[in-house]
Amino acid sequence: MTKDDRIVELHPDIFWLKGEDTSSHSYLLRGNYKNVLIDSGVDKNFSGLQKSLFNLGIKVRDIDIVINTHEHFDHIGANRYFQDYALIAAHRFAATKITAEDRYVTMYQSGDLNNPSMKVHLWLESKSRFDLGNYSLNIIHTPGHTSGSICIYEPALRILFTGDTVFAGGTLSYIGESGSVGDYIDSISLLATRKINEIYPGHGAISKIPEKDMKEAIVNAKALLRDEEGVEITHFREAS
Ligand SMILES: [Zn+2]
Repeated sequence: MTKDDRIVELHPDIFWLKGEDTSSHSYLLRGNYKNVLIDSGVDKNFSGLQKSLFNLGIKVRDIDIVINTHEHFDHIGANRYFQDYALIAAHRFAATKITAEDRYVTMYQSGDLNNPSMKVHLWLESKSRFDLGNYSLNIIHTPGHTSGSICIYEPALRILFTGDTVFAGGTLSYIGESGSVGDYIDSISLLATRKINEIYPGHGAISKIPEKDMKEAIVNAKALLRDEEGVEITHFREAS
């Protein structure tokens, strides 16, 4: 395997593929049955992503399923390179915005005049489940950052892929047009009732202290409602 500092193996066959600049991270799960990519990142990050996949022995057409954690451009931007081979999956509230090509809420722009239309083949709900043989992925609808945000839970390892819903340190993302602070608090409170060992977010560092970070996120979100000063509303604002 070529040395690629954008790749971190988190668990056997689960890889963190770091996004560059404004791009979200992607996560690859090499399943016994199907290969899954969580979030595709921004369009211009694709060549780096393709290289990382290649270094892991995976070609673009080897990805069977792309799951988008939500509808923002920095998570769905490279879907177009996968959608002719893979099934694209997103929560139905995200799917409506992606397939309608609502560039206002998704903030998506490829800069390509031949921009192909975006597809979502699987419209997900809470409790949808992917069985990969060696791992399974449970979908949890976690509105707040946007209405179509999901988190993805792997119950054997007790790991959670959070997109822009929970970040390390309890940092909050901004509230998108379809989002809501109340929903955010509710979603994170619900997540906090689960046993979670590690959190793999869409940007920044991973969290090895999920309980503490989620508590912090709830405190920060409540402070937003009171409009307190000094709440960190995130360096990911431009990107996420
Ligand atoms: Zn976002």
